[in-house]
Amino acid sequence: MGIKSLSQLNLQNAKVILRCDFNVPIKDGVIGDAGRIVASLSTIKKLLAANCSVVIIAHLGRPKGEVKPELSLAPIAKKLGELLNQEVLFSPEITGISDKARALKSGQILLLENIRFLSSETSKEESERMKLANELSTYGDIYIGDGFGAVHRKHASVYELAKLLPHAAGDLISGEVAVLEQLTKNPSRPYGVVLGGAKVSDKIGVISNFLDKANLIAIGGGMVFTFLAAQGKEIGKSLVENDLIDTVKELMIRAEKLGVKFLLPIDIVVASEFSADSLPTTVDSDQIPSDQMGLDIGPKSAENFALEIKLCKTVFWNGPMGVFEFTNFSYGTKVIAQALTQVDGMAVVGGGDSAAAVRKLGFADKDFGYISTGGGASLEYLEGKELPGLIALS
Ligand code: AMP
Repeated sequence: MGIKSLSQLNLQNAKVILRCDFNVPIKDGVIGDAGRIVASLSTIKKLLAANCSVVIIAHLGRPKGEVKPELSLAPIAKKLGELLNQEVLFSPEITGISDKARALKSGQILLLENIRFLSSETSKEESERMKLANELSTYGDIYIGDGFGAVHRKHASVYELAKLLPHAAGDLISGEVAVLEQLTKNPSRPYGVVLGGAKVSDKIGVISNFLDKANLIAIGGGMVFTFLAAQGKEIGKSLVENDLIDTVKELMIRAEKLGVKFLLPIDIVVASEFSADSLPTTVDSDQIPSDQMGLDIGPKSAENFALEIKLCKTVFWNGPMGVFEFTNFSYGTKVIAQALTQVDGMAVVGGGDSAAAVRKLGFADKDFGYISTGGGASLEYLEGKELPGLIALS
């Protein structure tokens, strides 16, 4: 796609506007997994080394145009300051601060409050987004896009703002795109795609796009029950998207025709309630009792998936195999994560949630070939869609 990189801009002493993705898990002001903040450091450090002043625009969660104190970026400013070992200024105001932004000195960083507190950021009306982008463009002379997790969104600070100023992608976006290109152009084979998580609807496009590209597709997580239902199996109280049953039937037929190995779990860990304390039982996947719900793939399936994954030379994984947040239902995800660490080739963990899952389960980033910071963004890229935030940086 030919996006511009940092090295193509003269950064020395520049007044930079940097778009980051600081969408980290946060509860009562305490950050759970700071992966996305850490991922932004490379670009920020380069800008500081070039004596830039940096205004950072970022988002957290989906406040939908309202001020939600629990989604404030104030704790992020503090965390970023700790990671950089320097003060990070914070502005609760997002608009009307042109003078303050332009008065920043070389080496100073100002983080603005959650941009999604403004409805114009995500507005469907181009004119509203443009108005905000025009205002933000007065805060600096150069735009650097580095919020990979938001590049699939046509939002004011991701798309319109980039087009108003000389621009480039930061190191994070450049790195993410390089990995995604490797996954789409000439991947080493066998090529496996492992998908889990709650919703099939999020992943239909990727599965469909991969049918003629991957050699192996393995499905787990809550989305698996729509596939099992499509095979006519009893799925009890498990998650299901009934309106997609016909679609997934077609996907499985196409997979068979194309000779793609399409793995579904043969056993399932079930429980009577969606709760951390629910008693887990393992049953064959065609023996799910009607009063139970599937909350993890079973151990036999996990071993089977792991065996196949380890034979691959390229693997992309998005979405947990079960409710990994509850220890009783985290085994499947752990076995798959372990298998990815043993791939003799390129193993990519895609997405903020999947990344948080592997870290929560005790794995280190360096155990994997690459951990992407953007779930939705990497899935849409792999679906073959054009991403507005990348187009704007070309
Ligand atoms: P997603 O955002 O679609 O990747 O979904 C991630 C979420 O899926 C995690 O919070 C998991 O707890 C959840 N999940 C995984 N497996 C199941 C399951 N069998 N039933 C319900 N939720 C699940």
